[in-house]
Amino acid sequence: MIGRRVVVVGLARTGLAVAEFLLNHGAEVVCTDVLPAEKLDNQIEELAKKGAILELGGHRNETFTKADLIVVSPGVPPAITPLQKAMVKGVPVIGELEYAARYVTVPLIAVTGTNGKSTTTTLIGEILKAAGRKTFVGGNLGNPLINLVNSEEAVDLAVVEVSSFQLESVESFHPQIAIHLNLTPDHLDRYDDFNAYAEAKARIFSRQGPDDTAVLNTDDGNVAEIKTQARRLMFSRKKKIEDGAFIEDGKVFLAQQGRTIGVLALEETRLKGSHNQENIMAALLAAWAAGIDMETAFKAAADFKGLPHRIEFAGEYKHVRYYNDSKATNVGAVIKSLESFEEPVILIAGGRDKDGDFNLLRPAVEGKVKLLILMGEAREKMAKALEGAVETVLVKNMAEAVALAGRKAGPGEAVLLAPACASFDMFKDYTHRGRVFTQLVQSGSE
Ligand code: ADP
Repeated sequence: MIGRRVVVVGLARTGLAVAEFLLNHGAEVVCTDVLPAEKLDNQIEELAKKGAILELGGHRNETFTKADLIVVSPGVPPAITPLQKAMVKGVPVIGELEYAARYVTVPLIAVTGTNGKSTTTTLIGEILKAAGRKTFVGGNLGNPLINLVNSEEAVDLAVVEVSSFQLESVESFHPQIAIHLNLTPDHLDRYDDFNAYAEAKARIFSRQGPDDTAVLNTDDGNVAEIKTQARRLMFSRKKKIEDGAFIEDGKVFLAQQGRTIGVLALEETRLKGSHNQENIMAALLAAWAAGIDMETAFKAAADFKGLPHRIEFAGEYKHVRYYNDSKATNVGAVIKSLESFEEPVILIAGGRDKDGDFNLLRPAVEGKVKLLILMGEAREKMAKALEGAVETVLVKNMAEAVALAGRKAGPGEAVLLAPACASFDMFKDYTHRGRVFTQLVQSGSE
């Protein structure tokens, strides 16, 4: 790579890590972002000191067309003009995941799906660590895979969360164990249609062979039939599985050729909701495929408390329980979230629309949601899509939403933030949105 001119597009966490790796290995690096310097991390100054050329506040076509290689961050749409021009000229354009995969030598476990990736990836990491395996946990989760290569840390294996954006450009990325959790509409603002989104996700299996393992959700029609050469381990909440995992009488059963090889009682686990039962099954199957002792895996799964901002308990006031599910940024996640509640729910939703079909929320909302409180850019569209299904009030901000929810909720009911939308219209990101909600709840302004 010495002396090669590499352009890094997008300078958030992933792009910064890629640029650092390239500079350490003698490449001539141009770092570019549409945002100006003041909106980017200070780390770009260090990169400049190390010799990176910065092109900020916009892209120059010529920089792209004259590159030897372009490494793109997951958030950058492939359709932008400079990338298109470079591709026409034959400049190789790849994502960070593909780039990092070329240098990673340890076995990889990869997790994709519309929802549940972070939870499942983290849980697999916990299980592997409990079993004494030195494990890198990252990817889309926040610690880009290139950091494993950067650090030269000695690990036994890596578990990575991979998004459809990252999978778009993979060629050599080859996980020995690949998990596909589920597929429901999301990101239709980026893809032409649902098929294009599904195809990107299925690329997680493209390099797998008969010695590898694919873990698939049988209950999801969009996932169960995916073609792969790998050995298939299936999981289901609804029916018995010969090779894989299923749920019966409140227990997870692991089975090999129809024979039970392990049982975990769900009451021992701490995660809420049936979707998390799916995540637990997927994680246990990955651990099994990785040769982990199942008793160790069961104990780690039982101890796992889940991640913040995913149906996270935020407080209880006047016998009303408040939950922060800010990470529920699409319709599928909100449906699962609502299914996790027995009690009536006051739902706070809305934000930046990702071209979601909010009509699909209707059956989940009817009868379960007592009051729907909507905010953000999508609030009118959502109100229209759900007209007649539920009493709906539009508010201006989170403070109003939490205050109204507090006034309307009765004892034994739940208030749930599950937006079905991205957060960027009103917040920095979903964690910021979740924190604002939780602070309002805990400051008693409900
Ligand atoms: P991802 O990394 O895929 O976004 P997370 O684990 O961060 O997944 O969870 C995102 C949202 O999806 C949360 O609202 C969570 O409650 C919900 N969720 C988690 N697991 C699943 C699943 N298996 N199916 C559907 N929704 C899920």
